[in-house]
Amino acid sequence: MANNKELLGIHGPGSNHWVGDGFPVRNLFPSNGVTQMNPFLMLDYAGPTRFEPSNRPRGVGEHPHRGFETVTIAYQGAVEHRDSAGNSGTIRPGDVQWMTAASGIVHEEMHEREFSRAGGIFEMVQLWVNLPKAHKMSAPCYQGILSGQIPIVDLGAGAFARVIAGELSGAKGPARTFTPVNVFDVRLSAGSKVELSLPEGHNAGVALLRGDIVVNGSKSVRGEAQLALLGPAGDSVSLEAKEQSILLVLSGEPINEPVASYGPFVMNTQAELRQAVEDYRAGKMGHLK
Ligand code: MN
Repeated sequence: MANNKELLGIHGPGSNHWVGDGFPVRNLFPSNGVTQMNPFLMLDYAGPTRFEPSNRPRGVGEHPHRGFETVTIAYQGAVEHRDSAGNSGTIRPGDVQWMTAASGIVHEEMHEREFSRAGGIFEMVQLWVNLPKAHKMSAPCYQGILSGQIPIVDLGAGAFARVIAGELSGAKGPARTFTPVNVFDVRLSAGSKVELSLPEGHNAGVALLRGDIVVNGSKSVRGEAQLALLGPAGDSVSLEAKEQSILLVLSGEPINEPVASYGPFVMNTQAELRQAVEDYRAGKMGHLK
């Protein structure tokens, strides 16, 4: 008998803002006061927004990160990325970039040149995943995960889940993670009804990008950019779609360590944050070539 995780609340975005001049985001947490998604630190939903053709790619120029991972999931449009560790790549619809900033990286995230020239609809998610203290100062790494590498679990009646990280129904996601997390890109057709296993003890959430769903047989979540927050007790979530819906299902084992954050740096103490700022200013996180 399934034991659904407790639905703690439904939250809209707490903030609408631009990241650089390329990412018009709705922040699903922490701006709405949701702090219980540990080990996930932040979720920005960019777009869907139409961009007119432009010869000058929009985006976010050179900036640093330290102490956590940034995960970019592309739905529509394309992003070109390059970083100070020498990694570069293009993230296209269906692709995922899992960047471990760890000890520090400087990167830029721009609309891909051809997408900029042609214009079109742009839609991305960026998720920040915390690192345990033991790995905050590890070497940075970069996983460019292509759509074709992501296993698809058939959930019946036209519904399916793409397993980006973690495990669902025996399918394992390609992302290497430092602590146990599940990241599922779930597409539900109208009328589909699914039950997803999520580990006992994991904090969890269902981010509805758009659609109309019923969570755990009782609570209706509809529209765009809504977060259904789920508690650690229980081992599943049930979802029923009233119309075609796109959602991101997240769960993770909490990292029970202090969190100190300042902009693009997430460490354990204020002293480590001061060190991060100093190291960035001194060029120790590198530069783009
Ligand atoms: Mn960044």
